[in-house]
Amino acid sequence: MTKLRYERPIISKINAGVPDKFGMKTSVETLNQIDTVPVKDILEQYGSPVFVVSEPTIRKTYEEATSAFTSRYPKVQFAWSYKTNYIDAVCRAFHKLGSWAEVVSGFEYQKALNNGVSGNEIIFNGPDKSDEDLKLAIENLSLIHIDHFDELYTILKLAETTDKRPKVAIRVNMNTGIYPQWDRFGFNYENGEAWQALNRLMYSEKVDVVGLHTHIGTYITTPNAYSVAISKLAELATSLKKKFNHAIQYIDIGGGFASKNTLKGAYLPGKDTCPTFDAYADAITGALMSANFAPNELPTLIIESGRALIDDAGYLLGTVLANKRLADGRRSTILDIGVNNLFTSFWYEHEVLPVETTTQQTEDTTLYGPLCMNIDVVRAAVQFPLLQKGDKVAIRRVGAYNMTQWMQFITFRPNVIMIDEEHNTHIIRKAETNATFEAQEVIPEYLKS
Ligand SMILES: *Cc1c(COP(=O)(O)O)cnc(C)c1O
Repeated sequence: MTKLRYERPIISKINAGVPDKFGMKTSVETLNQIDTVPVKDILEQYGSPVFVVSEPTIRKTYEEATSAFTSRYPKVQFAWSYKTNYIDAVCRAFHKLGSWAEVVSGFEYQKALNNGVSGNEIIFNGPDKSDEDLKLAIENLSLIHIDHFDELYTILKLAETTDKRPKVAIRVNMNTGIYPQWDRFGFNYENGEAWQALNRLMYSEKVDVVGLHTHIGTYITTPNAYSVAISKLAELATSLKKKFNHAIQYIDIGGGFASKNTLKGAYLPGKDTCPTFDAYADAITGALMSANFAPNELPTLIIESGRALIDDAGYLLGTVLANKRLADGRRSTILDIGVNNLFTSFWYEHEVLPVETTTQQTEDTTLYGPLCMNIDVVRAAVQFPLLQKGDKVAIRRVGAYNMTQWMQFITFRPNVIMIDEEHNTHIIRKAETNATFEAQEVIPEYLKS
């Protein structure tokens, strides 16, 4: 008997439409209005593609988040994470609701001031603060969260040149059971660096150590990681109290709450797996209240949530440019929405919905953007109905990290509009034009003729 021939196993990609444990979806959802404003009207008035931000959704989400925390803990303050979406109208919508500003650069710091946030309600994070930035932040009594020893020494030096006492906190990184551990920002807890930094600041007597900060990562789906983080920060706070008889004013737990978007490769949709604000609040406030703070020295809890507060409020509307068959027969639909404007399509499987009712007949489809680049894929594989050139589509949950991380590439960035509480629409960022670029570029004399 001859030996059976060995056949090498092959791994092939799973295509769209494979049933999960809930079976196959049978109906095609559509999205034809946002806050009662017809999507078709928005596209007609503001062009295609267009970003839409819903102020009622911002408010609703914010109220949900704040009430989860304030119902469990007496002293809570939210600070809007500028880099998540720093279009001024969006920031102002959060400030109107009572949010402070959380910034990570001189540029964002200026934006917060221009948006009317008072200096002592700006939290200045990040590894890149110039001497000029720090001077201004010290003058304005902003909360400076120190990232590394070089910054710490700069602040101590600057403190000698002013009569203001800098208000500082340190950012602490630590093992919370989250992998990969974010250890590139701040001072490490486990190796004693954080405690050394605090000692250095306290012995200097030149600054006010007002708080402790951490930001353990982003899209964290295990609330328990926050309990671990709080207990470690609380331990530092109790040590400060014991050694220096110094009580801090706040603990800033950072951001990182997941949004309802689905990560690439996830088995279940994000909207079914994303922890609720209540779950995060339970983990955080539970750990805070079990710590050894005297009742009259309970620190304020600061939260810098970004994506979880804004993702749902953002939409990207666009138009089908063409359909074609790929060489292997698969259907591809080309949209005027590309990865240049939808940066998060690199890690999310965004929900793309037809605007008008279509047939219920779907087919395995790849959704491409308009760029002349192979990477321009909005969805690699999705069960999608046949849309025709000119048909409209809407993409949900794009409020976070798109209107800041978008790139100018091959085409312009589009209009961004806001729908207010009365359902009126307003342009909040104008589409770019050729003039936008002409204003920035300089042609040397010798190339002019
Ligand atoms: C980016 C960032 C946030 C917001 O993070 P999300 O994951 O969007 O909630 C908060 N704090 C700091 C320091 C950040 O860098």
